[in-house]
Amino acid sequence: MPLDPDSFDGERLKEACGVVGIVAPGSDVAYMCYDTLYALQHRGQESAGMATFNNHQITVVKDNGLVSHVFSDASLRALAGAHVIGHTRYSTSGSANWTAAQPVFRSAAGSIFAIAHNGNLTNTTALAEEAGIEFTSMLSDSDLVAELLARAVDRGASVGEALKEVLSQAEGAFSMVILESGKIHAVRDPHGFRPLCLGQLGTPEDPEGWVVASETPALDVIGATFLREILPGEMVTLTDIGVTSVQLLEPSDKQDLCIFEFVYFARPDSYLMGHQVHTTRRRMGELLAGQSHVDADLVMGVPDSGVPAAEGFAKASGIPFGYGLVKNRYIGRTFISPDQVKRAANVRRKLNPLRENIEGQRLIVVDDSIVRGTTTQALVRMLRDAGAAQVHLRISSPPFMWPCYFGIDTPTRDDLLAAKHTIAEMNDFIGSDTLEFISLANLRAAIGLSGECCDACLTGNYPAPVPVTIGAAGGRW
Ligand code: SF4
Repeated sequence: MPLDPDSFDGERLKEACGVVGIVAPGSDVAYMCYDTLYALQHRGQESAGMATFNNHQITVVKDNGLVSHVFSDASLRALAGAHVIGHTRYSTSGSANWTAAQPVFRSAAGSIFAIAHNGNLTNTTALAEEAGIEFTSMLSDSDLVAELLARAVDRGASVGEALKEVLSQAEGAFSMVILESGKIHAVRDPHGFRPLCLGQLGTPEDPEGWVVASETPALDVIGATFLREILPGEMVTLTDIGVTSVQLLEPSDKQDLCIFEFVYFARPDSYLMGHQVHTTRRRMGELLAGQSHVDADLVMGVPDSGVPAAEGFAKASGIPFGYGLVKNRYIGRTFISPDQVKRAANVRRKLNPLRENIEGQRLIVVDDSIVRGTTTQALVRMLRDAGAAQVHLRISSPPFMWPCYFGIDTPTRDDLLAAKHTIAEMNDFIGSDTLEFISLANLRAAIGLSGECCDACLTGNYPAPVPVTIGAAGGRW
């Protein structure tokens, strides 16, 4: 039976990794790193890995699977050392192989280092050609960066100098952690597409270590205090004696944090640019209710990210909020038969309707996005089969019309339902009674950041160069 790359989440946008780096002198930090990766599991369920530095050596443990499957007590004990980086990965089906798991290790000219990367470089072909590297589909952009770093180190650069040399030529999205002898570097691309924050273990008077992570809940879970976000283009270096910072790369004119971190990707308890994600999602629902009222009996959200927006919708509309769907929380990568692949019924593997709450009800169903539309279609059918009298869909992001090239796995433009259809046509295809999307102005207002977010998949205004064949290509990693 084939691996199922497309179950319920075949419809969803897919985050492409979480990263962590921890330095805590005198401690073995692998167990801490395990907890942080567990907190970042939502950012990638394909593979997980860690690299620690100890006794002049780097040890890497990585494998396909969830964090809890990849690591055991024995492997965590083997990962000795006070310096660790970690990674959770999402990949497209074509690159779900062990070699794509991170961190990626290299040795060069007596130096050793390992890197882990969240994001997607958009000029890998040019970088590889320039360096005379054959860049095959089996290689990731992280492999390419590691190879380029190794070559620069071979030419006599330090790892820090090599990072400047290589990353100043890189385009696209990267929030990256790099482990070398006794230190960890953390770099964010000049646009700040993907999040990356800095925290401290212990107290300000008595610091016990430093942490970088994709999202703030990874700090919370190990009792670290949030200090600040890494700035676009900044590199911080964590050592046994503290944190240093340099502006490694010229930042772009404005920050371009992915707007879908707020809509869907980030955990609701994350703070991004000073805004709690859950609060922004509730606000999206409130503003959506203001622009798309319809008489109904119940407002429900599609778990998980649709639920806060549904709460906000209910509050603003005065229509009762309730639960209509139960999510199976324990689905990772699963096996299905070839026949099942053809059916959209995979939605049932993740969601089951609460028939008593739904039967005879006029439902307002709030979800975060529509990508291909097939899963939303199956969802509406499932709710009708469960007895819903009406299904009014409300979407807390504007129509998704353009592929992402900055670290999110999206279908090609040809497969994005909104790219080729009007809202009325989408409503017909999905089978809902009515369909409304939040406006871009209201989405920005809900987040409270008007110009500091990338919204290219909604507008086609890419803030950085992308591969030329937009019509045919989708995000690769
Ligand atoms: S194109 Fe869309 S998904 Fe990609 S980074 Fe920009 S806002 Fe996020």
